[in-house]
Amino acid sequence: MHEATLAQSLLGMALKAVREHNAARPHAPAIRIREIRCELGLLACVEAQALSACFELLAEGTEAEGARLVLRTAPLDCSCRDCGYRFALTRRHFACSACGGENIHFTGGHGLTLLALEVASEENHD
Ligand SMILES: [Zn+2]
Repeated sequence: MHEATLAQSLLGMALKAVREHNAARPHAPAIRIREIRCELGLLACVEAQALSACFELLAEGTEAEGARLVLRTAPLDCSCRDCGYRFALTRRHFACSACGGENIHFTGGHGLTLLALEVASEENHD
């Protein structure tokens, strides 16, 4: 399942970020992740609910257990092969916003990017 693979890699990225955070701040290590903000490519075709559910399962017993997943869609940089106009798509509507042409060039749009983590350290109860 596509979402499970993405959730697994997202968890991997988050836990790696926590280890790096803790290595840099041994005096105030993060003990748990509160929130994970990430960006999904416009073409990733991911069901946010399914991704969150998979993530929740995989995160059990790790520092990311109970973390809130905040997903947003990354705009896709495109250029028009007909008129050369460059623009960013924010929805799956593949037409040039300048000339209306459908001869659109783009790369990527499938990835999942980790933007930020909000962590809680031992001294930082809220
Ligand atoms: Zn165009």
